[in-house]
Amino acid sequence: MFKRFILYQIRWQLSTSILWLVVKNLGVGIYSTIIANLIGGSIFFWIDKFIFTSEAVEMWHFRERGYCDDCQKETSLWRLVLVPNYDRRQSEPRFFCIECSKRRTDALRDKGIKIRGRSR
Ligand SMILES: [Zn+2]
Repeated sequence: MFKRFILYQIRWQLSTSILWLVVKNLGVGIYSTIIANLIGGSIFFWIDKFIFTSEAVEMWHFRERGYCDDCQKETSLWRLVLVPNYDRRQSEPRFFCIECSKRRTDALRDKGIKIRGRSR
C-alpha cells in the first residue's frame, strides 16, 4: 500500500511538470490549463492503470464465520478478489475455507497467475 502511495505521489509530481510546461509555453489561462489536463489525462490514464493494477495490488475479502462454498465446512472464509490478470470484483462472491482456498490459489498459480497470499 505504501509503495503504491509513493508511486501515486510521483505521478502527481509528473502531472505538475506537464501543467507547468504547458502554462509556461501557452500562458496562464483556462485554455492552457485545459490543454495541460488533456495531455496529462492521455498520459496518466495509462500510468494510473499501471499503478492500480501492478503487483502492489492484491485484494482479499475475509469472513469471520460462514460456510465454505466448496466443502461446506463452517469456519473463517477467504475470497480472492483481485490480483494481476485475475479480477472477480464484478463476480458473484464465493468464499472458501483455508484448505479449499489454498487448493484454488495453487491451481491459479499453476495457470501463471501471481498470488502472494492472504494478507492476514
Ligand atoms: Zn472448504
